[in-house]
Amino acid sequence: STLTDRLSLLVKTMRGQARITESNVQDMLREVRMALLEADVALPVVRDFIARVKEKALGAEVVGSLSPGQALVGIVHKELAATMGEGVSDINLAAQPPAVILMAGLQGAGKTTTTAKLTKHLIEKRKKKVLTVSADVYRPAAIEQLKTVTAQAGGEWFASSPDQKPREIALAALDYAKKHYFDVLLVDTAGRLAIDEALMAEIKELHATLNPVETLFVVDAMQGQDAINTARAFKEALPLTGVILTKLDGDSRGGAALSVRQVTGAPIKFAGVSEKIDGLEVFDGERHAGRVLGMGDIVALVEEVSKGVDLAAAEKLAGKLKSGSGFDLNDFLAQISSMKKMGGLSSLMDKLPTQMAAKAGQADMDRAERDMKRMEGILNAMTAKERRQPALLMDGKSKASRKRRIAAGAGVQIQDVNRLLNQFDQMQGMMKKMSGGGLMKMMKKMGG
Ligand code: GDP
Repeated sequence: STLTDRLSLLVKTMRGQARITESNVQDMLREVRMALLEADVALPVVRDFIARVKEKALGAEVVGSLSPGQALVGIVHKELAATMGEGVSDINLAAQPPAVILMAGLQGAGKTTTTAKLTKHLIEKRKKKVLTVSADVYRPAAIEQLKTVTAQAGGEWFASSPDQKPREIALAALDYAKKHYFDVLLVDTAGRLAIDEALMAEIKELHATLNPVETLFVVDAMQGQDAINTARAFKEALPLTGVILTKLDGDSRGGAALSVRQVTGAPIKFAGVSEKIDGLEVFDGERHAGRVLGMGDIVALVEEVSKGVDLAAAEKLAGKLKSGSGFDLNDFLAQISSMKKMGGLSSLMDKLPTQMAAKAGQADMDRAERDMKRMEGILNAMTAKERRQPALLMDGKSKASRKRRIAAGAGVQIQDVNRLLNQFDQMQGMMKKMSGGGLMKMMKKMGG
């Protein structure tokens, strides 16, 4: 279950409390801690983070309709986003050309792929002339791989071979880049399956030789708990200026981002989101915070929902249901309008936890939005009396001619009108089941 599910349980028990206090914060923090560990954030990083959140949260006022639980979610989310970095930090190229970018990381982290992705980014977005070179003298295949992907990216590749020393390759490439007026030189390096001293000595030497303006640590988001050890080793060896988190398109909750950020102190600049050459995105700490917590932008959702739900109308509806006068087509129309007020289905879906949102594809959303618009059109083509007395359309004597008139007015087929009436019929059944306060409870829950 997600953090939201678990917190909402606690939230219920704390409704009505106006502050976050020592006594009500403990249980909530335990849930946050579990969520972070489940997202594979390293334990020491979790401890630090929880301590910081606790300090910020204690005594915090609970504003508006939020409960202490929701307020805490907001604080956690904000702190997480701030820790992982807010705002955009693109590649720094402020150096005498060629600006050198050194790529560091374990084998398989995605260095070569990311080198090509950055090449494409720098050419297309920054209008730079880019040269790549591989200093991986242990795997001839790695040099060939860089050649292929650099060509795909539209960059130029500088040849190197396994019988050269990495330092020699670096100097030759740098010289070539200067002579041919390249703006940027990207240097891909050898990685091992695990940290070892020879590897670290080699990349340190490369760093000293090249004096890069960016030293980027490439790390696989799927590495989970281990990411912290890898990050620590690279941080000790090199003055890292940035991190690129790859394979964020996988299932991991991406907790590695928090660990790596904390250990290296360097900003996470980009995220790899596919194997393809255009699968690179500027890293967005805010969005990623939602993923780590497994809850999307739940705070914004809570706010949107309470804005969109017209509580007065909801009370009236609940009253009607209780008195047995029933749910009519006017209520149906009001519901559709209140969805629209909230920015429509897709905007709500954007704010849901990623796992939930993934289940409903964009195509489904588009179809649902179109259906909603059509339904609204049909409802508006009815007379007020018909909306108040749906029976006129369902079993009245003149139902056929009424439906024909409505279909013509809304520019749809009779079947569309029938479909809407069926849906309404089902909904009415559901509403009856929920009467007796059930609906109000549901609305209140959504509205906080
Ligand atoms: P290197 O050994 O560090 O140079 O790693 P490679 O660039 O060869 O990448 C290792 C594997 O990870 C390859 O199969 C890549 O296609 C894959 N890869 C790299 N970045 C990403 C990413 O962002 N998403 C996905 N799904 N795969 C990636």
